[in-house]
Amino acid sequence: MGSLSGSIPRTSSSLGRNREGLPNLLVSHHTPGGSLLRGLGNEGFVCTMSVISFGAGVNSVAMTIILVNNGWRGPIVFADTGTEWPETYCYLEYFEREWLKPRGLGIIRLGEAYRALGPGRDRRTLIKFCEDYRTTPMAGMRWCTQGWKTDVINYWCKKHGETEQLLAIAFEERHRQKGRLCPLIDMQVDRKQCIMAIEAEGLQIPQKSTCYICPFQGISRWRRLYETHPDLYERAAKLEEASAERRHERTCLMADGRYTLRQLEIVFRDQLALFDDDLMDSLEIYRPCVCSL
Ligand code: SF4
Repeated sequence: MGSLSGSIPRTSSSLGRNREGLPNLLVSHHTPGGSLLRGLGNEGFVCTMSVISFGAGVNSVAMTIILVNNGWRGPIVFADTGTEWPETYCYLEYFEREWLKPRGLGIIRLGEAYRALGPGRDRRTLIKFCEDYRTTPMAGMRWCTQGWKTDVINYWCKKHGETEQLLAIAFEERHRQKGRLCPLIDMQVDRKQCIMAIEAEGLQIPQKSTCYICPFQGISRWRRLYETHPDLYERAAKLEEASAERRHERTCLMADGRYTLRQLEIVFRDQLALFDDDLMDSLEIYRPCVCSL
């Protein structure tokens, strides 16, 4: 079986582009075993049994649109930690209703019931797990990504004989590809073009899709959580406090450990700006493998 990543022509010129500069690259065939894509370039490529690892962010929405518009058909799976921002759940419904359903497609949600069947046999949401163990996701360890995202999707793929996961990493982040199948990188589609691809379909742009307790969030995200979902902010702050109490040390959900959520709360409540808001927001570039896409 050929590899999408290994055999897509690397030069965008060989793919052909539409007026928006997005690739017109594929004709599709559907086989009983899964989707099969065949490239139009000299080399051509084949990708069988592929599944979209859908994160509900800009990249994965755009990748889905581009692939489906070029004939790809297959499963679209979303590993639901049960701890996503409410906006992400809304967007999932919206994208499925407005764009996927009319094309005969849907999103397979791998949530609590599915996790109970998986390797960990633990149906708890990420936030409930953290609360029970009085712990927090940690930027350096990423056990949450593995337990609530990658393991879950890998298990689903194994169970359903789907061997190729398509990840939505944009072209400018190609250093993160690491041998994985990333159509956006192979098609040289960057984040700006991802946004254009979504807008070209008349769809709204999704917000970043992370858990609301994610340590990779910058200050502006925490500020937004405080302002728009105070109940979730409070739950996150309580989790941070419980974790600090168990560890007998200062604990911060934020990746660089500079501010606790209670400290930030004072800033947010008094509508103050932090001089390093932008710097802290830049931390969001360090994202886990299948989160935030
Ligand atoms: S989005 Fe953040 S908290 Fe959620 S699984 Fe990924 S790294 Fe962990």
